[in-house]
Amino acid sequence: MQIKSKLLIAGAIIALIALTTMQGYLTFNTYDLRKKSFAVESRTKIGSIVSTPYVDSLSWAYRMEFIEKVPDFKNGAISKEELLKDLENAAKAKNEQFRDYFKRGAKHFKLDDHILFKKVASGILFTDENGATQEILVDGKDDPVFLLGEDFPLEEGLIINAWNWTFDKGYINENGLNSTVNIKYRASIYMKIVDWDKIIFKQLLILFLIAFLLFVFVITLVTYSIRNLLKLKRISDIKTDFINNITHELKTPLATLSIATKTLTNKFAKDNTDISQESIDTINRQNKRLQNLIDQVVDNSLGYNDIDLKLEPVNLTTFINEVCDDYALTLPRHIQFLRAIDKTSVEAYVDKFYLSTAIVNILNNAIKFDGTVIKVSYQIKNQMHIISITDNGIGISKKNKSLIFGKFFRVSERNEHNYKGLGLGLYYCNQIIKAHRGTIDVESKEKEGSTFYLKIPLDNGKADFTGR
Ligand code: ADP
Repeated sequence: MQIKSKLLIAGAIIALIALTTMQGYLTFNTYDLRKKSFAVESRTKIGSIVSTPYVDSLSWAYRMEFIEKVPDFKNGAISKEELLKDLENAAKAKNEQFRDYFKRGAKHFKLDDHILFKKVASGILFTDENGATQEILVDGKDDPVFLLGEDFPLEEGLIINAWNWTFDKGYINENGLNSTVNIKYRASIYMKIVDWDKIIFKQLLILFLIAFLLFVFVITLVTYSIRNLLKLKRISDIKTDFINNITHELKTPLATLSIATKTLTNKFAKDNTDISQESIDTINRQNKRLQNLIDQVVDNSLGYNDIDLKLEPVNLTTFINEVCDDYALTLPRHIQFLRAIDKTSVEAYVDKFYLSTAIVNILNNAIKFDGTVIKVSYQIKNQMHIISITDNGIGISKKNKSLIFGKFFRVSERNEHNYKGLGLGLYYCNQIIKAHRGTIDVESKEKEGSTFYLKIPLDNGKADFTGR
């Protein structure tokens, strides 16, 4: 069972990790795919917006203005930089119209408004009739000339398209001769998606939410199952322990009874009244012991709701002293029995029989678990009657402190030392104190000893004392 449940738990945790990794991977993949398809969709839409005769006519207009300036450059009237600046300015003059048009197009094609568009001239080359070339703008080397759209840094954008255009421009050269220059012009368009991650995240929010909820659900399910499994295992261990303990407890009286009856049936004993009487006494004692054991199982298993208290006003100073006096008579000589019982005239509302049973149970444990110095104290503090029982026995580990009040719970290693018991004593004490509307606590340190506190509220039974 031990190995099997450990394997089951390990298996469940591994499966959970694998599932989470898979889910994480799939979610990430979906995210990545969505990102790519969003870029493709946006590209297509931009293509549809800008590939129109209207945009072509705008481009044609500023290009023509630029071409008109080429002879000035060829004849040395303006520099290369001035020529490019002229191109930029000519395009700029058309940009407002273009932006307006783009906005309308974006609306029409339902392009996300986080998408920016930019058109640049990225390469310009002049070739004379004699084949001599002049590089005005080198693609990939010089800064492209901004033409239309929004002027964002190109490294933040994605290229959508690029194309070449050529034109032969005739002009009169500086020598007054007719000449032609071939203009090769390259333009590129880019888009930038602002807050790209946020857009995709928003689109996939529902998916993420479902994935997250599923994840939480599976984790809760696995945790719940593991806890249940452990609980079942603990119950099964407790059952096995209980059966072992009760068998052990029954064995001794049964063996003694068997010897005593054998002796009685023995012819020699029949003639000897002393031996017969001794055997009868033994049988009676063991019979009582067996009866006690059965009573203990039946009574001590009661829950606090089943305990029918007969509450009465009791002076606990007197009462605890009486219980201690009686108990002291049963103690072996080597046990030191101390008391620190406050004198008070405040009465408590308790059931004397049940309260003395609880106190004696705890005193018995103190002795059983190797206490040699036992101290019983009583005081009224924080509106509570507090009875504490301290011993210097083997103590209780931190881990077990919260468990010892459970039904049938025994600290398992203790069996080796042969501390007899059924694990019902403290459970019963707890039920008795609970029935008094009080609480029971323990402070303990292993190998040093324990203190049990029985706390009963001052007003526990006063109100309905008459009714019970
Ligand atoms: P039992 O005494 O029959 O085992 P109890 O319910 O009285 O059952 O106690 C439960 C467990 O709590 C004990 O098995 C023991 O391990 C631990 N325990 C109780 N009282 C003491 C004590 N005074 N010192 C050390 N351990 C104790």
